[in-house]
Amino acid sequence: MSRAARTLLGVLLAAGLDPSALALGAPRKVANYDIAVSLDPKTHLFEGTETLRWTNPSEAAVSDLKFHLYWNAFRNNRSTFMKESGGQLSGDRMEKENGWGFIDVTSMSWEGQDLTEGLRFESPDDGNPDDRTVLSVALPRSVAPGETATLKISWKAKAPRVFARAGYVRDFYFVGQWFPKIGVLEPSGSRRRAAPAWNCHQYHAASEFFADWGDYRVAITVPENFVVGSAGTKVSETRSGGRKTLVYELKGAHDFAWTADPRFIVRESLFDPAKDVPKEELERASKTLGRTPEELLRGFRPVKLTFYMQPEHAAAWRKHEDAQKWALAWFGLWVFPYPYPQVSMVDPPEDGWGAGGMEYQTLYTTVDSRWLGFWPGSGLRIPEMVTIHEFGHGYWYGMLASNEFEESWLDEGIASFTEAVIVDRHYPWYLGLPWGSGVRDEEVQRLIVAKPDFDPILRNAWTYHGWTSYGRNSYERPATVIQQIRRLAGEERFWRAFRAYAERWRWDRPTTEDFLDAMRATGVPGFEDFVRKTFYGTAFVDFQVLRATSEVYDPFAGFDDAGKETNLPKRTPETKKDARLFQTVVVVGRDGDLVLPVDVRLTFENGQIWSTTWDGGEKWIRLRTVYGSKLARVDVDPDGRVVLDRSPWNNVRVTGRVATPSAAAKVRVYAFHLVQILISTLWSFA
Ligand SMILES: [Zn+2]
Repeated sequence: MSRAARTLLGVLLAAGLDPSALALGAPRKVANYDIAVSLDPKTHLFEGTETLRWTNPSEAAVSDLKFHLYWNAFRNNRSTFMKESGGQLSGDRMEKENGWGFIDVTSMSWEGQDLTEGLRFESPDDGNPDDRTVLSVALPRSVAPGETATLKISWKAKAPRVFARAGYVRDFYFVGQWFPKIGVLEPSGSRRRAAPAWNCHQYHAASEFFADWGDYRVAITVPENFVVGSAGTKVSETRSGGRKTLVYELKGAHDFAWTADPRFIVRESLFDPAKDVPKEELERASKTLGRTPEELLRGFRPVKLTFYMQPEHAAAWRKHEDAQKWALAWFGLWVFPYPYPQVSMVDPPEDGWGAGGMEYQTLYTTVDSRWLGFWPGSGLRIPEMVTIHEFGHGYWYGMLASNEFEESWLDEGIASFTEAVIVDRHYPWYLGLPWGSGVRDEEVQRLIVAKPDFDPILRNAWTYHGWTSYGRNSYERPATVIQQIRRLAGEERFWRAFRAYAERWRWDRPTTEDFLDAMRATGVPGFEDFVRKTFYGTAFVDFQVLRATSEVYDPFAGFDDAGKETNLPKRTPETKKDARLFQTVVVVGRDGDLVLPVDVRLTFENGQIWSTTWDGGEKWIRLRTVYGSKLARVDVDPDGRVVLDRSPWNNVRVTGRVATPSAAAKVRVYAFHLVQILISTLWSFA
């Protein structure tokens, strides 16, 4: 036990906390696993046994069980995953040479009866007869409602070469979604379901996971020289014959992942709420949420932090530690305090980034690169962003366990939203540029709305028109839509509703409509129309200045009723300058069908500002005024409140003398354009 760990134990004991007990309640435990697994790194083979105690959570008797065998996605090129992905994920390509993997259940028994005969594969999503990722087991008798069945399962698996989350590269192993894992039997009422049914989807190229909660006890046997990082808390370690067995426990989880690599450099730290919760943030949260600081701090506990670093990135662990501590403080204040006693971060090697940027309960993977360790790369907060994003999943997939197969945005979109809030509040810039300027994370996410959509946000993850559509509609677009709701509702109403959602659905399974119900409480006008066009539709909005003129206005010229002619005054800049009037006409248009209110600001040459809010209901609005100064500029949405505006670049029209913007502001606009061009270019290749 290291010094940091001993100190931690002392802190926990002094605080009277049981390190294995969850603060803030606990989920309903349906699937409890006792697993023993051993790894042979020469062959990349895993052999395992598991005792699964599964309780029928539904009101109906069950005569068959469903299991996920995720690693069969990498079995051959006939699997649904390989057919859909073509052997690449997030730009990482599979190596066919020695790259395949599999998982075979070698035996399964219940009450002394061998079930192996009754095993068969199913493909509920696409009927692919060659897919082996869902296993169905016929039972000799039904499991009654509330009854616990204890199954004994043995299996053998080979890790794929890592390109899609799990696998190996050289001696590095990332072991996720790796054991025969029972599907979710959803009782009626769960996720608004009318009748109980199995929810056990195949492993798709674009989709993540869904599982039931339980307690895990996992014994991992590896060669002695391997450093193991795991979810949960280590309870024992024994050695014999050049191998070691480490036992971990994780209570109240629906997932268990681990990693092993002889090269890991391990760094430990402690999140201490007394030191690591910034006072200004506590005050801000207290004021916005309308709760006392004491109330917000209740439930905070020390959290043991472990960082499994590649040697070439070892020095970077401090920046991840800082990001991790800040994320723990932010989530604790704005969402609810982190209830587990530990969290671990895994830094994959640079040729194993396929395992990077992925969430598992109480353990996640980040990405880092030696090029980001020094100037100017150090200004790019990508590793910190990934750490914050993946830790955030500990909430949005971990404790609010939505179905990532069917509502991927509900996890990824909210995780991206909180990521941007946390990153942008902590760092001067997300992508800092060498000359002291930069771009914020929220702005980068927002660039996604510059391109048209062909899918709504809400779909089954494997049914978007392609990988990029899954990505934009699961991550950046919903994150930006939530930012839009935040702008419409205002800080107080938004964050109170957001927290109410998190507290209501902690240890439960929210749906899209549950999130929207929480947002309905903000009372934003026109919310149903907004929801129909964003979450369930593809509408966009692009406000733009269509016309802006400002001309000398003559009160009267020509013949009056008495037949008297008034001639136009002779206009020169020198004469009657102060007496002149100007007629200003501005037309602002709304392209797209998404209706949002927008501010329009007219700035006159004498510095006078005239603002109005247009409800955006018609396709265009004309503003006309006669005033003693010439129009200098029109700004549509000057405060950037319409974050869904497809093109903010056509929102400004300069018609007269304007104050010169500062050099820094110019550089910033330039940087923003640069990133947009870059991202548009990337899209055109995708
Ligand atoms: Zn994510």
